[in-house]
Amino acid sequence: MTATSTGIVSDLFIIGGGINGCGIARDATGRGLSVTLAEQGDLAQGTSSASTKLFHGGLRYLEYFEFRLVREALEERETLLVAMPHISWPMRFVLPLSPGMRFESDTPTSRLLRWVMPWAKGRRPAWLIRLGLFMYDTMGGRKILPAARSLDLTRDPAGKPLKPEFRRAFEYSDCWVEDSRLVALNARDAAQRGGRIMTRTKVVTAERQGDLWHLTTEGPDGRHHHKARALVNAGGPWVEDVIRNVARINSSEGVRLVRGSHIVTRKLFDHDRCYFFQGSDGRIIFAIPYEQDFTLIGTTDKDHTGAPKEAVCTDEERDYLLAFASQYFAKPVTRDDVVWTYSGVRPLYNDGAKSATAATRDYVLSLDDTGAPLLNVFGGKITTYRRLAESALAKLHPFFPKAKPAWTARVPLPGGDFPHDGVAALTAKLAAQYPFLTPYWAGRMIRAYGTDAFLILGNAGTPAALGTDFGATLTEVEVRWLMTREYASTATDVVWRRSKLGLRMSQDQITALDHFMQMNGSSTASRAISPAAE
Ligand SMILES: Cc1cc2nc3c(=O)[nH]c(=O)nc-3n(C[C@H](O)[C@H](O)[C@H](O)COP(=O)(O)OP(=O)(O)OC[C@H]3O[C@@H](n4cnc5c(N)ncnc54)[C@H](O)[C@@H]3O)c2cc1C
Repeated sequence: MTATSTGIVSDLFIIGGGINGCGIARDATGRGLSVTLAEQGDLAQGTSSASTKLFHGGLRYLEYFEFRLVREALEERETLLVAMPHISWPMRFVLPLSPGMRFESDTPTSRLLRWVMPWAKGRRPAWLIRLGLFMYDTMGGRKILPAARSLDLTRDPAGKPLKPEFRRAFEYSDCWVEDSRLVALNARDAAQRGGRIMTRTKVVTAERQGDLWHLTTEGPDGRHHHKARALVNAGGPWVEDVIRNVARINSSEGVRLVRGSHIVTRKLFDHDRCYFFQGSDGRIIFAIPYEQDFTLIGTTDKDHTGAPKEAVCTDEERDYLLAFASQYFAKPVTRDDVVWTYSGVRPLYNDGAKSATAATRDYVLSLDDTGAPLLNVFGGKITTYRRLAESALAKLHPFFPKAKPAWTARVPLPGGDFPHDGVAALTAKLAAQYPFLTPYWAGRMIRAYGTDAFLILGNAGTPAALGTDFGATLTEVEVRWLMTREYASTATDVVWRRSKLGLRMSQDQITALDHFMQMNGSSTASRAISPAAE
């Protein structure tokens, strides 16, 4: 196949449309750099749609003495909440205390305690958790989120769904985020600022020639050549594949692929707090209120040997999560409760840790400047994506000395231009302007699109004015918005990434949606959407 040259020389070419690639693209375009990003599938189709969806400091990382990571993540939570009050919100986490809770045997904290308190026999004492929560509350400069406190589970409603033996708990704050929407909004914002975002476009070769990178991509409209002054490899679980097989560089750095699976069950409890359960194996899982009618339980930690795309929640992982949760819930959680599962692969920097649980969650940016610069991104959290992007641009600054300074901490994502506690007021305004919306529908539109919900619904006065009804409150105007502004081109992009309406739609409805999207120009959505489309 012959390749057409785009004739454009970008400052940055970014491989990967996960949160790290899209976060870097947004930051770089806002600093005045010209950016091209290629994603081989849909935005966030890799790890960035398969997370636990928390903006969190990572309480358990304190046991690994990952203080830098925890501090940075804690500080980020409130910056992100303010920048995206539609797709993220505060959550309280209830951590029941039980004498059976143990450390993973290999954490620095457990080794220290084994030495000073041998009689504890690897148990995680309540006072240590309280100390950890104190650090958690104070390390990150909290202003919006409430502090940790103790709970009496015999009186607090959070104790009701649990076994009676759980009598005490701690409660602390972290935040929720719609992970795949976060990616799409970063991509959209980058495009609005002049970036070129190409989905369904795989980078197949990358080669240094003189001061430039020469790249070949394969996409829906064939093969293309691109040139760029610097290359960012944000390939997530494919980061090593890009180094070795796309750029053909020998490197000693590697990625450790650690699979994490989640199960979604029918709703297991009737309040809006989340549970943080500690296991006798030293691991922890969350049980989180999910999409109003469901509970999300996860995650596992398994070294992953297959291709990243092949990650699925195995029967063994599902049963592990069911058994773990059933140690806490009064009513056992069974296979019949499970309505959906998903699995993703953490692209962790390979630091040689013994277990998958112990491998560092911190990110590593490695710059290869033996010619035109190549920046490889290893690891990272959804929570730290914005800080990671800032660090990436700091590393690249010597090559782009005229780039503007960091800016993303103060600028909302599309649709997020309203107060961090303004969701209820905005939902009420939407419901008043469009009285035909049900409360669920109005809430869903604001949570997904924020102030853009008004643009999507336009001057519709009746549901019929919104075009085809695909079911579960999804209508044609919303689908067209997702196709023209958010790079969606299949039903899966819409019902499992840009939304989770797949939990509420029948297979026939999803097939009908897919048919509609194929008939209505999905190929245009897969190409670069020009800023003018905004
Ligand atoms: C189970 C689990 C739970 C997690 N929970 C949390 C959490 O609650 N909070 C948190 O902060 N973090 C969490 N994380 C971590 C977080 O999800 C990841 O660190 C983050 O999503 C990684 O993003 P990424 O952009 O590096 O990778 P990805 O999202 O995988 O993106 C990489 C992209 O590169 C593309 N690509 C690869 N090769 C090419 C190529 N040759 N050409 C074009 N495109 C290519 C891929 O298709 C992919 O879309 C969790 C991770 C897992 C697995």
